[in-house]
Amino acid sequence: MTPKIARFLTQHQPATPCLVLDVDRVEENFRALRDALPLARIYYAVKANPARQVLRRLVGLSSHFDAAGIEEVEACLDAGALPSAISFGNTIKKVSAIQRAHRAGVTMFAFDSREELEKLARNAPGARVYCRILVENAGADWPLSRKFGTTIESARELMLLAGDMGLDPFGLSFHVGSQQTTTQAYELAIGKVAMLFTDLTNAGVNLRMMNLGGGFPTRYRDEVPEIDRFGDAIMNAMTAHFGNNLPDMAIEPGRYIVGDAGLVQAEVVLVSQRDKNDPVRWVYLDIGRFGGLAETEGESIRYRIKTSHDGSATGPVAIAGPTCDGADILYEKSNYRLPLALTSGDRVELLAAGAYVTTYCSTGFNGFAPLAEHYV
Ligand SMILES: *Cc1c(COP(=O)(O)O)cnc(C)c1O
Repeated sequence: MTPKIARFLTQHQPATPCLVLDVDRVEENFRALRDALPLARIYYAVKANPARQVLRRLVGLSSHFDAAGIEEVEACLDAGALPSAISFGNTIKKVSAIQRAHRAGVTMFAFDSREELEKLARNAPGARVYCRILVENAGADWPLSRKFGTTIESARELMLLAGDMGLDPFGLSFHVGSQQTTTQAYELAIGKVAMLFTDLTNAGVNLRMMNLGGGFPTRYRDEVPEIDRFGDAIMNAMTAHFGNNLPDMAIEPGRYIVGDAGLVQAEVVLVSQRDKNDPVRWVYLDIGRFGGLAETEGESIRYRIKTSHDGSATGPVAIAGPTCDGADILYEKSNYRLPLALTSGDRVELLAAGAYVTTYCSTGFNGFAPLAEHYV
């Protein structure tokens, strides 16, 4: 919790649940990543937190932006980003979205299939395109599965085709999975994709960019490597494969930029000992899976939880949300412990909850309002 957030909570006693995010911390994270990888251009993955306050701060730092949809493209433009600083990074785009982005001046687009490439050729002629390669997501707490990316063979074919279609075959990309906790995932992916890069260059394609995606982790319950370790591993791998002839490098951090900049304050609604022979108490909060904490699915993202009783005796708990849905359980298997003194009415904080929360919440399931947001 940053001092600014602590002061806000004390002074304003906001209604819960709410996100409170310190925009100065967003800037610190941006600078730390830029220092760790000075040669890489940063495209902030807007979907992690598209709040105007966040976008405006990043525009002020000359960040670039990775947009997943046309509304995100427009949010970046509204916040003052230049169209040339926006990459439309989703490989699945409606024709109308491509047309609107192209008309707005966006010139860089991702794809990973022939049909998408044809859509781009027709609706964004001349655009710079980059092909996303499927890479291993081992080591990621929130893997992106097999939904995105194509094989080396088909990427090779499509990149050769892109030029013939009147597009500019600009680069290659990958994503090692979100909350990636190993530096090795980047090394392996760079090795795989760099070979294709060299191969296509030798075939006469004027490739200029390696886009290393996002994935850089936020510290939740468990420790993660420092950002400099990722920077060093990436630079070593890039130099090993490209020598002095480095292509432009792009990264698309989302979680790393906003994750630990914010927290969610919640209220304990009920503490229940469901079975007197079972020491596990059920702690129900006023926010759950449908209130924005969607990444607790599969107990993948394990937030640290702070209470006003910290330091006193604890016992095992299951933690759940307030809705009438049986899936609305945050943690049952991850061995959470909370103070025995915890009781309904207490406020708790889920730390480092600045990423992938506000936009994941439902709009009125069980009548609960969307998550309130405060930017300080
Ligand atoms: C979601 C996403 C990102 C951001 O990933 P993080 O793990 O939050 O850094 C970057 N690039 C693409 C293409 C994405 O879909």
